[in-house]
Amino acid sequence: MAIHIHPAIDAGVQPATPGFSGGTLTCRCATDPVTVRIGAQVAHNHACGCTKCWKPEGALFSQVAVVARDKVEVLTNGQKLKIVDPTTTIQRYACTGCGVHMYGRIENDKHAFHGLDFVHTELSREPGWAPPTFAAFVSSVIESGVDPAQMDAIRARLSDLGLPTYDCLSPPLMDALATQAAKLAGTLYHPA
Ligand SMILES: [Zn+2]
Ligand SMILES: [Zn+2]
Repeated sequence: MAIHIHPAIDAGVQPATPGFSGGTLTCRCATDPVTVRIGAQVAHNHACGCTKCWKPEGALFSQVAVVARDKVEVLTNGQKLKIVDPTTTIQRYACTGCGVHMYGRIENDKHAFHGLDFVHTELSREPGWAPPTFAAFVSSVIESGVDPAQMDAIRARLSDLGLPTYDCLSPPLMDALATQAAKLAGTLYHPA
């Protein structure tokens, strides 16, 4: 059985273009699409197996990256955007016409990732975006109905594609979350 990780990943990932400075995301509505300008290269692009990120039809994983929120600007048809679930940490702004998530935003200013928006670069036609470099929340695909017996094959496929697999986030992102937790708890290491 062929494993479809994600349409932008299955054929192998393309390297970033040096000096790439952003592009425009467009939703899938045939008329009056929502467009969002991303004014910078993204970081931490990855395949995500969680059940909350938007995925194209037939994909096991989403592809999601972060960019500074002040580099994200809705250009057209912003009135079609609605927050999928206002109670979640990441507020995902989806198009009410086609269902595509245009960006996700964290409003809690104590969160380690506050100031970063989550975006899907596949919604842009411009080549040159930073490619995914790891797979996160891999075990979570089971929660969207994947046979647990497939997990070895899925992890093997991700490894073949050059994406190390993690069942939470990557070590640098987990370290950022733990650093923020330590700051808030007053337990962050500092030299005597
Ligand atoms: Zn749309
Ligand atoms: Zn996700």
